[in-house]
Amino acid sequence: MIDEKRQWDLLKKIGFTRIGGSKEERQAAEILKQTVEAAGNEAVIEEFEVDWQKVKVALLKTANKEYAVTGYYQCANTDENGLTAPFYYLSTDNEVGLKNCEGKIVLVNDYLRFKTYEKLVEAKAVGFITFSGELRDSREDTDLENRELRQQLREKGNLPGVHMTVHDAMQLVLENPEEITINIQQETFKVNSQNVIAEIKGKVHPNETIIFTAHYDSVQYSAGVYDNGAGSVILMELHHYFLENKPARTVRFVWCGSEERGLLGSKAYVKDHEDILENIVLNINVDVAGPVLGTDSAVVTGPKCLVNYIDYLAKEVGFEIKTKQDIYSSDNMPFVDKKIPAVSFARFGGLGQAYIHDRHDQLFFMDSKNLYRTAQFVKVFAERVINSYVFPVPREMPENMVKKIDEYLNKKPQEKQ
Ligand SMILES: [Zn+2]
Repeated sequence: MIDEKRQWDLLKKIGFTRIGGSKEERQAAEILKQTVEAAGNEAVIEEFEVDWQKVKVALLKTANKEYAVTGYYQCANTDENGLTAPFYYLSTDNEVGLKNCEGKIVLVNDYLRFKTYEKLVEAKAVGFITFSGELRDSREDTDLENRELRQQLREKGNLPGVHMTVHDAMQLVLENPEEITINIQQETFKVNSQNVIAEIKGKVHPNETIIFTAHYDSVQYSAGVYDNGAGSVILMELHHYFLENKPARTVRFVWCGSEERGLLGSKAYVKDHEDILENIVLNINVDVAGPVLGTDSAVVTGPKCLVNYIDYLAKEVGFEIKTKQDIYSSDNMPFVDKKIPAVSFARFGGLGQAYIHDRHDQLFFMDSKNLYRTAQFVKVFAERVINSYVFPVPREMPENMVKKIDEYLNKKPQEKQ
């Protein structure tokens, strides 16, 4: 039985900020491990290294003013006195704007995408600035986030960068200074993040494994109950269920760490368990669930017949869910990259109905009944396939999906496996 109250209680218990690699993330991992053990099963914590840093200086100033900024984690340090260079606001990363970037510190819109960063490096920018928040919110309601320059970007060339609020970005563009100075001083080193793993052996086909994943880390300022405490506790209920109702095939539960930092936990899992990947017949991933207003969704990164299977099942049991074949940006990706079919379940809140990655990811827009309903449907689906006479999902990855997966993981065609 899925226990609605037990599920909700665990969600409240892990509803604190759990940044990948932090001691709070470790604490959440221990709670998950203890919960598995209290149910009478073994749980293992598997560690992997992630980047960490101590920021000593992060500064941006013009001739008139100093702006509040955070330094990009892991970016290059400037020299001690900072880097002074002309300022340029790049509104879009096409040729016209890029022609103006050489030797400048460049402000860009939106999230710093891989492609944009690559172009900035090629255009010989010497530093960069990003911003976040909403102008309609007051400054007090706008957190100044820390952002990380991920390794994939650093490999293109490591530039010093800072992050500011949208309010300050507008001020800076209005000020339009000729020159600005940024100063970043940080120490970088490694710390451990971790996955939590529990297994229940199959009684008929122990060599065929269904792997459940959900990330349990969150981002700065976010309690991460919707994203993805929700998926983590759904996985725990499924664990309890299959412990009481022994499955025909082996089920393994992986609560992934550091997903928000670039799927680091699931990538580490796939890398460290290369030898058992051939036994994995399906990955069931859950990422975001529980909003009162929202839509349940199943995204299949795998054969089209699995989309139909879920669609028919939903009709049979009377569960409203949108199904489609696509990629899903979560811990399923390292598995599908190894040609293991995956389905990601989620209940999305629409615009204005739910929040992720900020201080508003809180219980106020969620309901235990919705979390229960999603868990219940995932259970019905999982139980069917796990206990089926012949496993109904072919272990294959259609060409249209392979293409999308490669694009998502930024593989060049010549690197394709
Ligand atoms: Zn998530």
